[in-house]
Amino acid sequence: MKIVGLVGWRGMVGSVLLKRMQEENDFLKIKPVFFSTSQSGQNSPIINNSASNILEDAYNIDALKDMDIIITCQGGIYTKEIYPKLRKNAWKGYWIDAASNLRMNSDSVIILDPINYHFIQSSIKKGIKTFIGGNCTISLMLMSLGGLFEKELIEWISISTYQAASGAGARHMIELLNQMGMLYNIVSKDLLEDSLSILNIEHKVTQMSRSLNFPVENFSVPLAGSLIPWIDIEMSNGQSREEWKGQAETNKILGTKNNILIDGICVRIASLRCHSQSFVVKLKKDLSLENIEEIIENHNQWVNVVPNNIRDTLLKLTPSAVTNTLDIPIGRLRKLNMGKKYLSAFTVGDQLLWGAAEPLRRMLNILINL
Ligand code: NAP
Repeated sequence: MKIVGLVGWRGMVGSVLLKRMQEENDFLKIKPVFFSTSQSGQNSPIINNSASNILEDAYNIDALKDMDIIITCQGGIYTKEIYPKLRKNAWKGYWIDAASNLRMNSDSVIILDPINYHFIQSSIKKGIKTFIGGNCTISLMLMSLGGLFEKELIEWISISTYQAASGAGARHMIELLNQMGMLYNIVSKDLLEDSLSILNIEHKVTQMSRSLNFPVENFSVPLAGSLIPWIDIEMSNGQSREEWKGQAETNKILGTKNNILIDGICVRIASLRCHSQSFVVKLKKDLSLENIEEIIENHNQWVNVVPNNIRDTLLKLTPSAVTNTLDIPIGRLRKLNMGKKYLSAFTVGDQLLWGAAEPLRRMLNILINL
C-alpha cells in the first residue's frame, strides 16, 4: 500500500478532499499520514473509525521524505518553501498540489483527467512526478465546454466570472459571513417595522459597510452587499493574474499548438460556494444550437445542458442549486446578435469539487492503481 502524506486537509479544499475520499473509500487503498503546519503533535482526524494518530509537522522534510505520494492543499506559500527542499533532498515521490506555483513548470502536468487523461498517463510513463490541479474557473470551464474544445470548434472565448468567497479560502468565507451578520444586525429591528423607509435601511447598511469596525482584514474591502472586480495580483499588461491564467492554463491542459484566445474579467461576488461564469464563444463554424447542445452534453457524465428558459435557469443554474454536487450545468445557450458563430453560455460549478479537490482525488487514484 502506498504511504500518502496529506497536508492542508483542514482548509476549504482539503476538507472537501477528505470528505470525497471517505465517500469513495479511498482511505482503504492507502496508508495515510496527516501533516499540519500549525497543529503538529495534536490528534489527526479519525477516518473510517481508525484510531487517531499524531499529526506530523508539515515542515519536517525527513518525515515528508518517507511518503510515496504527497497531496497538498496547504497553499502556495507552503509549496514554495517545501517542494524545492524535498526535490533537493532527492525525494522521488509523487507531488499532487492544489496551489498554482508549479502549474506552468515544464516538468509538471496540470491535471483534469476527463479532459487530459491520456496526457496524464503518457506523462507518468515519461517519469513526470509533479501533478497540479488547475485554476478552479478554468477546470469548470473545460468541464462545461469540453465537447467544443475536444472537437476544436472554438476560435476564442470572452469570459466574465462570478467567483464565490470560498474560492479565496476558509478565512475569507468566515469574513463574508461576519460581514453579512453585521449588515443584518444593524437593521434587524427596522426590518420588523413596516413603516420604515427602505432608503433609511439601505443608508444604515451602507454606513455600516463603510465603518472602521467592519471586518475587511482578508478581502480588504466589503464583499457582502458588494463585489470585487479584481482577483489575485496585478500583471504588467493590465490583467489580474486570475485573468492571465485563463489562456495560459487552458492551452497547457489541452496541449494546443496554436493558442486558443481566452480573456475576460474575473469578479469576486458574495456567493458562498460555486463559481459561475458567462461566456461569449466565437465558434470556428456555424453549427445549429441542437448540434452544439449535443456535443456539449455528450462530452462527460457530469455536464448537463439546462434549457434556455426562466424556470429551468432559476431552478438549475445557480450556486445554491449546484453547491456540494459534482454537476456541471450549462445553460443560457443561444446565438448572439453579433452573428451565427457567436454563442452565449452560462455555467455554474462547485469550485471546491471539480474546481479543486476532485481532480486531485482522481489523480491520487490513478497513481495508487499504477
Ligand atoms: P484555506 O482554506 O485558507 O486553507 C489553507 C490552510 O489554512 C489550512 O490547511 C490550514 O492549515 C490553515 N487555516 C488557517 N485558518 C483556518 C481555518 N479557520 N479553517 C481552516 N483552515 C485554516 O485554503 P484553500 O482555499 O483550501 O486553498 C488551498 C490551496 O488550494 C490554495 O493554494 C488555493 O489557491 C488552492 N485552490 C483553492 C480553491 C478554492 O476554491 N478555495 C480552488 C482551487 C485551488 P493548518 O491546518 O496547517 O493550520
